[in-house]
Amino acid sequence: MREIRLFIDAPLSPGLEIPLPAGAVRHALRVLRLEAGDRVTLFNGDGRQYSARLIAADPRAAHVRIEGVESPRRESSLSLALVQAVARGEKMDWIIQKATELGVTRILPIVSERGEVKLDADRGEKRLGHWRAIAIAACEQCGRNVIPDIGAPVTLDAWLAGESRAGPGARWMLHPGGTTRLRDLGPLPANMSLAVGPEGGFGDHDLAVLRRAGYRELTLGPRILRTETAGIAALAALQALWGDF
Ligand code: SAH
Repeated sequence: MREIRLFIDAPLSPGLEIPLPAGAVRHALRVLRLEAGDRVTLFNGDGRQYSARLIAADPRAAHVRIEGVESPRRESSLSLALVQAVARGEKMDWIIQKATELGVTRILPIVSERGEVKLDADRGEKRLGHWRAIAIAACEQCGRNVIPDIGAPVTLDAWLAGESRAGPGARWMLHPGGTTRLRDLGPLPANMSLAVGPEGGFGDHDLAVLRRAGYRELTLGPRILRTETAGIAALAALQALWGDF
């Protein structure tokens, strides 16, 4: 039987018996139809995974017992931040899911000048919860035991004002007019930040603030990719050239 991985937002350690939270109960009992005695793998984002056994499968009192712990290597050696202009609807969900599978370290959703998505604080907070749930589901599926950090959506200006304090690292923006190609980058520094524009591309103001913050233009070849293709293609290429592909 394939490994069943469940995210538990709580401290985990061998010997512990814990109740399954409501979301995990639904998934484990109703969808996967697990029974008492079945094995599951738990993770909480601490980089380890915990082998466990379901000891009670009653939906109101489902419990697991943690039996062991291991630390498989699933994280990329590259520290990659994807600065992604918020794409509409399901496209953003798709980007978050695929970027997580591709080993991204951080995702920073940006509301840019020409972005078609406007988010007030309330909706931004809701979308953030939704995106985090998508990243967790992707970790359940792909075996990552570290959940990529997803930032609250902010404007490019607001984010860059804070980001400039975050320290050094290579900063690149994907831009169709760029002349530097991925494979010309040379050895990658410890941290890399990759900015991807919205459906309509970065506007002049976006480009100016990004340049001022040290972002240089990187091309992905002569074809114009959609925003949901560009970052994902770049992450895959970076993993192939310098990471763990
Ligand atoms: N009409 C826009 C294209 C936007 S594509 C324009 O001509 O600028 C959406 C985003 O994907 C872009 O802002 C850029 O970040 C990225 N992108 C798409 N194709 C690319 C390419 N060939 N090279 C580098 N970045 C690209």
